Amino acid sequence: MKNLSISFMRSGMRIGFVPTMGALHEGHLSLLKKAREMSDVLVMSIFLNPTQFTANEDLSKYPKPFDIDSEKARREGCDVLFAPQADEIYPPGFRTSVQVEGLGSELCGISRPSHFQGVTTVVLKLFNIVMPQCAVFGGKDAQQAIILKRMVRDLNMSIQLVVAPTVRETDGLAMSSRNTYLTPEERIQAPKIYCGLLNAGKLYEKGERAACVLKKTILECLEKAPLISPEYIEIVDTVNLKAVEILADVTLVAVAGRTSQSKTRLIDNVVLGGNI
Ligand code: AMP
Repeated sequence: MKNLSISFMRSGMRIGFVPTMGALHEGHLSLLKKAREMSDVLVMSIFLNPTQFTANEDLSKYPKPFDIDSEKARREGCDVLFAPQADEIYPPGFRTSVQVEGLGSELCGISRPSHFQGVTTVVLKLFNIVMPQCAVFGGKDAQQAIILKRMVRDLNMSIQLVVAPTVRETDGLAMSSRNTYLTPEERIQAPKIYCGLLNAGKLYEKGERAACVLKKTILECLEKAPLISPEYIEIVDTVNLKAVEILADVTLVAVAGRTSQSKTRLIDNVVLGGNI
């Protein structure tokens, strides 16, 4: 892959990059569309990164429809699909990692302590292999996008990192490769998460700035989804991910929940007062 990237760069081509773990849906494809607009060569990676899964998580059951994925990527104009094996990315003796201090232990980092270190390390490695000028990530994983932006800035990396909007099912549920785990009853209740976030957004538009009021409206929606136990409902600033009481600047309203039947972890968010 690296030699190919070097030849693209020598021909003056701008490389756009979309890293994924596969099981592609319209959310992933929207990132390809965005990256296509900004580049001459479009590279997507499919790598089920073991280091971002914590011990009891779903690495072994994560869907791996590789042939279907590669056809979807090709149809969306992907020029190069990079799908390395784990030992290519982590050869024997590998022992380096990248950590954006502090940010990875907030929100999802509480229940997934090593997750973001796994993400930053693999994304930095993928950037070094693919050598893109721009890379597109989804706003659905807002904490991930904020952490990666910070890594790019802190390490003086010459990559334009773009955050694209969350793509949703028609009933509002944020698309996710993990939605296929949901039981039919859970699937009916899952849009309540976005319903709560939308209600919080509506209150914000009407002038409400108290975080506790926004949280309450989200919780009320989630109470109508008894198969989803909230893991957190947090209202935080988009720089340090610290809780705010009064919304004064760009604010991330983030929710994580776990379903009781299939034990699927769902996350979603809205950003109020600007973008990340
Ligand atoms: P994943 O394969 O889950 O690691 O996701 C790969 C990329 O797709 C990440 O940048 C995600 O934020 C992004 N992504 C996942 N779901 C969505 C969605 N529903 N809308 C937009 N981007 C998404």
